[in-house]
Amino acid sequence: MHHQMDTPTTHFARVVVDVAVDRAFDYIIPNQYNDQIQIGSRVSVPFGPRYVQGYVIERITQTTAKAPKPIAKLVSPIAYLDDQVLQLITWIAAYYGARMEQCIRTALPGAVRKQGASFREQQQARLLPDKTIPTNLTESQQRILDILRDAGGTMLIAPLLQTAGTSRSPLQTLERKGLLETRTTIRPRDPFANSTFLRTEPLPLMPSQQTALDKILAAMQSPNPKPVLLYGVTGSGKTEVYLQAIAATIANDQQAIVLVPEIALTPQTVSRFRARFGDRIAVLHSHLSEGERHDEWHRIRTGDADVVIGARSAIFAPVPKLGLIVVDEEHEPSYKQSDAPRYHARDVAVMRAHQAGCPVILGSATPALESWYNVQRGKYTLLPLPDRADYRQMPAIRVVDMRVEAERNGQPVIFAKDLLGAMHERLQRKEQVMLFLNRRGFASSLVCPQCGYVSECTSCSVSHTYHKTLHALICHICGGRKTIPAKCPKCGDPAFRYTGFGTQRLEAIVQKCLPHARIARMDTDTTRGKDGYEKILGAFRDRKIDILVGTQMIAKGLHFPNVTLVGMVFADMSLHMPDFRAGERTFQLITQVAGRAGRGEVSGEVFIQTYTPHHTAIQTARDLDFEGFVAEELAFRKELSYPPFAHLLCLHFRGANEAEVRYASECFARKLQTPPITNLIVSDATPAPLAKAKNIYRYQIMLRSKTVRLALRAYRDAATSVPIPKTVTMAVDVDAIDLM
Ligand code: ADP
Ligand code: ZN
Repeated sequence: MHHQMDTPTTHFARVVVDVAVDRAFDYIIPNQYNDQIQIGSRVSVPFGPRYVQGYVIERITQTTAKAPKPIAKLVSPIAYLDDQVLQLITWIAAYYGARMEQCIRTALPGAVRKQGASFREQQQARLLPDKTIPTNLTESQQRILDILRDAGGTMLIAPLLQTAGTSRSPLQTLERKGLLETRTTIRPRDPFANSTFLRTEPLPLMPSQQTALDKILAAMQSPNPKPVLLYGVTGSGKTEVYLQAIAATIANDQQAIVLVPEIALTPQTVSRFRARFGDRIAVLHSHLSEGERHDEWHRIRTGDADVVIGARSAIFAPVPKLGLIVVDEEHEPSYKQSDAPRYHARDVAVMRAHQAGCPVILGSATPALESWYNVQRGKYTLLPLPDRADYRQMPAIRVVDMRVEAERNGQPVIFAKDLLGAMHERLQRKEQVMLFLNRRGFASSLVCPQCGYVSECTSCSVSHTYHKTLHALICHICGGRKTIPAKCPKCGDPAFRYTGFGTQRLEAIVQKCLPHARIARMDTDTTRGKDGYEKILGAFRDRKIDILVGTQMIAKGLHFPNVTLVGMVFADMSLHMPDFRAGERTFQLITQVAGRAGRGEVSGEVFIQTYTPHHTAIQTARDLDFEGFVAEELAFRKELSYPPFAHLLCLHFRGANEAEVRYASECFARKLQTPPITNLIVSDATPAPLAKAKNIYRYQIMLRSKTVRLALRAYRDAATSVPIPKTVTMAVDVDAIDLM
């Protein structure tokens, strides 16, 4: 017989190391690991003078590396990154201009990445079957066997010994005699250990829900379905559609991922899913303990969970057979991560669904304009739910012109007369009130308290940002600068100045107006403690609080049937953010706030106080006219090449030395502007609206471009030729949402 001489092939692994470098490195796979190392395995490798950990992203037979070193140790052969997740983060790294190592850190929970992260173990004793019991057993030994038999043959060792009242030694003797065995098993940490749920059954659907569900079910059969935009007002039964679509996914022997905004990931939300699907739910939640997160992640990876619910990062859940993704409240800005990789979980969800060939449902009462535009150009399918499933009336929304109120009182007021009257009335009827003060980021516009005039940039249609240190008004889109007028340019009122105030002051004012009311405040200050949030909500639910004052934190998804009055104290605060999405955010906020009122038997009333009552966002929100708002807003976006008609990239420059930060960003802007690049609009370098944070100065440049690729390339080219001092950090935010 003729043996062909095999030249032993060397195997290499391409490894992303846990170090801030922009590329992967090739290592030799030592023979002893050859069979075990797979894509996603965790390894320890020599890196310069030290050893670092990393993940194998590819196995290759050839390398261009000059002197590849062998992998030092196989830390864990498990595929921490499966093909699908790896493909997804490879896309993220390219699209968002992030490093693979950052993407891996985002995709894998810290509890899973951590060295020594492991399951909690427990020891069990098991009676071996068909053994003749010797007669010479001691009393304790006999007792152990009896208890075990009564327990059905297996028991955890700790309670077994406790019940038998013995030490471990009789157990060990029994094991030696071959009458029982002990073994170590995994004890999963169950975040729901102490909760029970009443099972719910699928509801008979309303016609529009049925149509939506049918289309989604049809999409499941298609090899590459379009994303679905489920557009329905609050209470239209979107969640019921998700639940029934998920049930179909499970029946197909596949898994579903459900994303909800972090703030909405409450026990209430999760319990609706638990009530339908029981234990087959896994939750990825920042409130879980490290151990729970570790166990949930592995449970998901091994296919032990049918449905994964989580915030943003749950989109990386390693489900073995993805059949459906749901992104609830898809317009929520919190889906965008603010640190690298600066990904948008909704857009990543759309990409993951595309790669997996499964449907993705984006649900919202106020879809993001990006999503709406994708419907208009045929990329997404629109499934509307026009009616409320619970047959409740939408509340009456009243817009109050605060200029008129100011005139009537001879000075600006915090509460309109009608709103105060309505609050009185609700207190007497023992109904509850919510008051919102929107304070997204920080209030930084100048508003005239008399006429509501807000200074705007003439070429960009965004509010000027008030910069106290520079004593100037700046447009941070184009960099245009204006000195602060001594009096209001419109009405001549000299009180024209910064007029921001916070929830704390608001609470004090309400208390003064309504001395007998029980008032609580909910904002980042009062909810800092572990259960702060739940405690306040609990008290409100139990009607121990009459009026809840808060930031947008209380606007989302909460259900309090006894709330019949909602007031938005100063709608202009969100309207005049120096952000081209200010109108969109205001519309969303009013809609959401309105959704809080009248969820019970009594129908609700909503007051929107504003100095600019005729603004489109406010007028259309009052009429619940999303499409009317969108039509106007899209026209404005198109004219100025804002998203969704272009991609917006925000370049950040940050450092402790302002002169250096400014100089670096200005050089960078000049490099990008000259010579001009076709199809790329470059702003000047400007101080960010939040110009200094924690003693770090912040400058930014805005890029607008038809394609991300073009803008990223320009950014990278400039980065190679413009010297950036070591003290200045630079970053790119693709499809930026937060422009502060
Ligand atoms: P959304 O998610 O759009 O805000 P939900 O799914 O929470 O709406 O539904 C609002 C309310 O209507 C819930 O109490 C839900 O149980 C109820 N509901 C939803 N669909 C139906 C239906 N087909 N028949 C009766 N009630 C329904
Ligand atoms: Zn401008």
